[in-house]
Amino acid sequence: MILILTPDTDQQSSHYLRLMDHLNNLPSIEHRIHQEKGTQQTLTEIYLIGDTHTLNLDEMSSLPCVERAVRISEEYRVLGRHKDDTRPTSFEYNGITFGQNNLNIFAGLCAVNTPEHVEAMMKVLQENGQQCTRMGAYKPRTNPYSFQGFGKECLPYVFELAGQYDIKVVAMEITHESHIDEINEALEQTGNPTGVMLQIGTRNTQNFELLKIVGRQQRHPVLLKRGFGITLEESLNAAEYLASEGNSKVIFGLRGMKTNMGDPHRNFVDFAHVPVVKRLTRMPVCIDPSHSVGSRDLAPDNILDVMHVTAQGIIAGANMVLVDFHPEPKVALVDGPQALTLKELPYFLEDIRIARDAYEQRVALAKKHFN
Ligand code: PEP
Ligand code: MN
Repeated sequence: MILILTPDTDQQSSHYLRLMDHLNNLPSIEHRIHQEKGTQQTLTEIYLIGDTHTLNLDEMSSLPCVERAVRISEEYRVLGRHKDDTRPTSFEYNGITFGQNNLNIFAGLCAVNTPEHVEAMMKVLQENGQQCTRMGAYKPRTNPYSFQGFGKECLPYVFELAGQYDIKVVAMEITHESHIDEINEALEQTGNPTGVMLQIGTRNTQNFELLKIVGRQQRHPVLLKRGFGITLEESLNAAEYLASEGNSKVIFGLRGMKTNMGDPHRNFVDFAHVPVVKRLTRMPVCIDPSHSVGSRDLAPDNILDVMHVTAQGIIAGANMVLVDFHPEPKVALVDGPQALTLKELPYFLEDIRIARDAYEQRVALAKKHFN
């Protein structure tokens, strides 16, 4: 059961202390307090764990400071969608809204290579009205001799350029907890010119200790990629690790599954799971067409496979697109063959608009049908 407290409940108030007293005296029930400090207000939720079936929902709702009580199923306690659960399906970060009802595009470099390329990318993003990007500094590579990313060395100029081109959020994979400190130091050093969304890559989806540490910080939202060879349920539980530690600003990323059944694509595209994740949880859903397809192969209709699958994910309601671009894909240090070029950005965005409009029309049609 979750107790949702009235916003800005003061934890020193006598009402709150009375509530705590009541909860402490419930037999075989433990509680965990989760606080979300927004710019406008502080929200407090209390998760009751144990023999909660003995509790009466109306009685719990009438306790001091409690606005609402929600009975939850065992699955995905914090991030799940439960019966009569009206908790939000969106969050704000650095002025950008991330939610199950909107769409944000994160076009950018798979791996940062030079300041010139970073600047060229950000310039074209700004020219096309974009405020988010992806910039890989720490690259998990299959081969130990492959380029591993420029790491903390490139962070100051990436953040400075982001600020210069009005980029509000940079999605960046981290593979170790020390990377969070390096990112925070570089942000301080450059005067916090932008925001960072921490990305957990598919190789680390079940790195539980990393998930716990990332979940304990609330400064940055998290993009958790689905594990490439585990069930959807296992990946959603990985997302719940982040939330159970305190950070529920989590976006769930679909990036394809590793199997030769998906050949000739790099991974078997799994965007049919967009509506499934939205039904089971309150997380916005991201698609990564670049790592799913892995090439610039063109279909006979002159549309790139990468753009076909992007449209498929969006027409199914995807909320974020993480996509590789590069000013000179031939010299990209990682994943050049799947990158789109800067000249293709306006075309890509226009194609996305068509798919998003179609999705919105489908939602309106469904509403009409069911009313
Ligand atoms: C990436 O987005 O750069 C990446 C490595 O993705 P994934 O973890 O999905 O392979
Ligand atoms: Mn890549």
